[in-house]
Amino acid sequence: MRSVFISHGAPTLPFEDVAARHFLEGLGSDHPRPKAIVVVSAHWETPIPMVNAVERNDTIHDFYGFPSKLYEISYSAPGSPELAGRIVDLLSGARMTVGIDRTRGLDHGAWVPLSLVYPEADVPVVQLSVQSHLGPGHHLELGRALAQLPDDDILVMASGSMTHDLSSWKGAIEREEPDWVTAFADWTDAALLEGRTCDLLAYRNAAPFAARNHPTEEHFLPLFVALGAAGSRAKVERIHSSTTYGVLRMDAYAFN
Ligand code: ZN
Repeated sequence: MRSVFISHGAPTLPFEDVAARHFLEGLGSDHPRPKAIVVVSAHWETPIPMVNAVERNDTIHDFYGFPSKLYEISYSAPGSPELAGRIVDLLSGARMTVGIDRTRGLDHGAWVPLSLVYPEADVPVVQLSVQSHLGPGHHLELGRALAQLPDDDILVMASGSMTHDLSSWKGAIEREEPDWVTAFADWTDAALLEGRTCDLLAYRNAAPFAARNHPTEEHFLPLFVALGAAGSRAKVERIHSSTTYGVLRMDAYAFN
């Protein structure tokens, strides 16, 4: 697995008895363990690409009004200032302006899935931010600039959501999926499996109900980083599909 896109769901995912949680719990043992992980999370949005360079990652509880036990979770995976420096070099080499954050830890888009995939928190993690105002093309280029990292057993993990209309959120986790969610996820699945990168880049106009499923783009853009980092010859495989709360498709894709 060179890169992976996963849907991280609600912050409460570690406590929910759902297929998406069980899938993430099995992901680490189903694949060779990487030397380090670059995680791209929808929850770190910055004007320019930023990487965190810390010896050990703090756990950022960037959500409000959830059960107190969620705020007690700590995922203090080691960081890697060395890998952060390499990412800066790669992005600079691709003519991108990039910054380093020497204090920031991992937000819940990173630690919620990582705590399920590698619960021992013993794989070094560096986080990379998204720039949602720059759209899909920028994030594909961001991924392409990182495409040599998987050759060195560094996994690029992109964490967002296949669909993410929180205005349609209702309480029940087992709620039935509306047709407009299915249509968007089916379109994206076909475009990925058929290698239609141009269509994906134009998804905002080309995909059914794109703006409804993603009123803002930050949860979809990490997919393009995973796509770019995989390289042009990568095979894509859907490795998980399920739905929580009706409107959150929890699909995941591996790029090999
Ligand atoms: Zn999220």
